[in-house]
Amino acid sequence: MPIVELNYPVTYLANVGESRAKQLREGMGIQTYGDLLTYFPSKHIDRSRFYYTHELGPDMPYVQLKGHILSFEEEGHGRKRRIVAHFSDGQGVVDLVWFNGLQYVQKSYKVLTEYVVFGRPTVFNGRINITHPEIETAERFALSPQGLRPYYSVPEKVQRCGVNTRMVEQWVATVFRALRAPLPETLPPYLLEQMKLMGRDEAIRAMHYPKSAEHLSRASYRLKFEELFFIQLNILRYSRERQRRYKGHVFSRVGDYFMDFYNHHLPFELTGAQKRVIKEIRNDMKGGRQMNRLLQGDVGSGKTLVALMTMLVALDNGYQTCIMAPTEILAEQHFETFSKLLGDMPIRVELLTSNIKGKRRQSIYEGLANGEVQILVGTHAVIEDDVVFRNLGMVIIDEQHRFGVAQRAKLWAKNQTPPHVLVMTATPIPRTLAMTVYGDLDVSVIDELPPGRKPVETIHQYDERRVELYQRLRRQIELGRQVYIVYPLIKESEKMDLKNLEEGYKQICEAFPDLRVSKVHGKMRPAEKEAEMERFVKGETQILLATTVIEVGVNVPNASVMVIENAERFGLAQLHQLRGRVGRGADQSYCILVTGYSLASDTRRRIQTMTETNDGFEIAEEDMRLRGPGDLEGTQQSGIPFDLHIANLARDGQIVQQAREVARRILDDDPDASRPENAPMWEALAELNRHHVDWSSIS
Ligand code: ADP
Ligand code: MG
Repeated sequence: MPIVELNYPVTYLANVGESRAKQLREGMGIQTYGDLLTYFPSKHIDRSRFYYTHELGPDMPYVQLKGHILSFEEEGHGRKRRIVAHFSDGQGVVDLVWFNGLQYVQKSYKVLTEYVVFGRPTVFNGRINITHPEIETAERFALSPQGLRPYYSVPEKVQRCGVNTRMVEQWVATVFRALRAPLPETLPPYLLEQMKLMGRDEAIRAMHYPKSAEHLSRASYRLKFEELFFIQLNILRYSRERQRRYKGHVFSRVGDYFMDFYNHHLPFELTGAQKRVIKEIRNDMKGGRQMNRLLQGDVGSGKTLVALMTMLVALDNGYQTCIMAPTEILAEQHFETFSKLLGDMPIRVELLTSNIKGKRRQSIYEGLANGEVQILVGTHAVIEDDVVFRNLGMVIIDEQHRFGVAQRAKLWAKNQTPPHVLVMTATPIPRTLAMTVYGDLDVSVIDELPPGRKPVETIHQYDERRVELYQRLRRQIELGRQVYIVYPLIKESEKMDLKNLEEGYKQICEAFPDLRVSKVHGKMRPAEKEAEMERFVKGETQILLATTVIEVGVNVPNASVMVIENAERFGLAQLHQLRGRVGRGADQSYCILVTGYSLASDTRRRIQTMTETNDGFEIAEEDMRLRGPGDLEGTQQSGIPFDLHIANLARDGQIVQQAREVARRILDDDPDASRPENAPMWEALAELNRHHVDWSSIS
C-alpha cells in the first residue's frame, strides 16, 4: 500500500514557499515529504550534554549551552554591523553574534528568558563567540524529543535563504506526524529475522531519533544493507537472465595446441597464480555458459602468457580468437610476444592495426572469414564492421579501462553465439568495488609475481635536491641502465605541461651533455612518436622524457629508473602504473617521486603509500579511501551511478559481500520471483529501477 503522504510536495510545509522549494530541490535534492525522511542527519547531538561557558575554546565541535541573555549591543558599521548578545550561564559570559536579521533577533529574543543555545564557538578579538547560533526557549526544548538530537547539514547556498538545521528538524517532525501508516517494509520477513535486521519503519525513524548510539548504528546497518542488497539483486538477476538467454560455446577439449605449447614451448614454469587462473578460465569455458571474466593482475604479473594459453584452448576446440589492445605499440608488442612464444607451431597469428593497409589487410580479412587466421591481435581496428570472423569463440581485451562499454558490446555481436570474454586489467580494483562496478563479471586475480623479481624501490625526492637526483641517474646509466622521466599532463593546460617537458629537456641535456635523450609527448605525430620510442627500446638513447602518453604496456626490461616529476599531480593509480614500467628485468629498479617541500596532507599520504608498498591492491584500497569510489580509474565507464545514499563502498565492503551472498540465495530459492513473501521486495526493486538509468544492462 503506497503511502500518499510521501509524495506531498514540500510546499505543503510551513515556511516553504516557491523559492525555498527551489533551493531545497537544487541544493539538497529534496522535493517531497519522502525525500525529507531520507535526508538523514549528518550527526546527532547528545541533548543531555550541556557545556559551561568556561569550558569553551576554539576548535570545539557544536556545543549546547543553557542560560540567559544579559543585554544586546550593536557593534560595527555598514557591512560589519552586527548584533551582539551577552549570554550568561551563571558561570561566565559568551557573545552570541548575528550579522543579519538584526531586527528579527531583537524582536525574537528577550532578556531574562531561559534559552538553550546551540552553535560552534570561535574566538574573535580574544573573546569566545558563537556566530548565528540556534536558539530555543528552555521550555520548548524540554518538550522536544529527548535523547540524541538530529543535526542536519544544510549547504551554504540553502542556508542563505534562511534554512537551518532546526528548520529541517521541524519539517522532518511534521512529516513523521503526517504519516498515517508505518513506512512499508521492502525486505521479506524471513530475511529480517535471519539477518536480525531492524524493520524499515523503525530504521528510518531511528536514523533521525535514535534512542542510543547503538540503536543508530543498527538502523544505519539495516539501510546500508538494503541499499547494497538491491544493487546486488539487480546485478545477479540480470546476469542469470543473460546466462539463460545466451548459451556459451562449450570448450570441452584441451588438445594438441595447448599441450604442445605447454610441453615444448613454455619458456618458464608458470607461477601458482597463473596456473590457478588458467584453471578458472578453462572451467568457465567448458561449462556451457558464456564466460565474462575480469582478470586482474599487477603490471608484470604475466597476464600475456595466460591470455595466450587460454586462446590455445579456443583453438583446440576449433574456434578463432582475438585480443584487443588499447594502443598500436601494445598490439605490436603482443603480436611479437605471441609469435616468439609460439615459435614453429602451425598457428596463423595476424596483426591488425590502422598501419596495415591494402593487400595485406585484404588478406587478413579473407583469412578471418575462412577461418585460416586463428589468432588476431589488434587495436580497436578489430571491431570495425568489415572485420568478419568465421567462428569467433573467445575475445580478450587488454587494459580494459581504455575501452568504452559500447566498444565491448560491439565485440559481442561479432558472432551468433557471443564469444567468451576475458577482460584483463592492471588497474587493481578492490574486490567489493569490482563486485559492484563490473556487475556480473567474475573476477580472477594473479596475486603473485614471477620469481626473481626485485621489488621496485620507491624514493621520495624533493625538487630542491636535484643534484642528488642527477647523481643517482648517472650511476644507473653508468651501469648500462636506462631512465624514464615523466612529466604530468593535465588536459586543461597541455601547453603549460609541454613547456614543462621542454624545460626538463633543456635541463637534462645540460646536466648530461654526453648522453642521448629521447622525448615523447601527445602533440607529436604518431610516426614521430613511435620512432622516438623505438630508439629508446633499442637502447640508442639512455633517457626518455615523456608526458603520460607513455604507453601503458611498453616493455623495456633494461630501463631501471622511473622519475616522476611533480608527482603531487598524479593520482595513486597512475603513479603505480608508471612505476610498473620499471622492475621488468633482473636488476634492482627505482621509482623516484619528485615533489616540492610543501605538500597537502592527502598528497603526502599518496607519496607515503607509494614508498611503503608495491602491492597494487593495497594501493587501490588506499586510493578508494582517499578519493572515494566514484573517482577511481577504471570505473568511470562502468555506467553505475555512485549516488549511494547511505552505504559507502570504501567502508562497507563487508556488507557488500553479505548482500551479494543473500541476493544469490534468494535468487536460488525463488528463481522466477513467484514466492508471495518476496513480492514486496521485487516491487521495491522495480520501483528503484524506474528511478535509475538502466545500468543493469551494462556489463
Ligand atoms: P603483464 O601482466 O603486465 O601483462 P606480462 O605478461 O607482460 O605482464 O609479463 C611480464 C614479464 O614477465 C614478461 O617479460 C614475461 O615474459 C614474464 N613472465 C610471465 N610469466 C612468467 C613466469 N611464470 N615466470 C617468469 N617470467 C614470466
Ligand atoms: Mg600486459
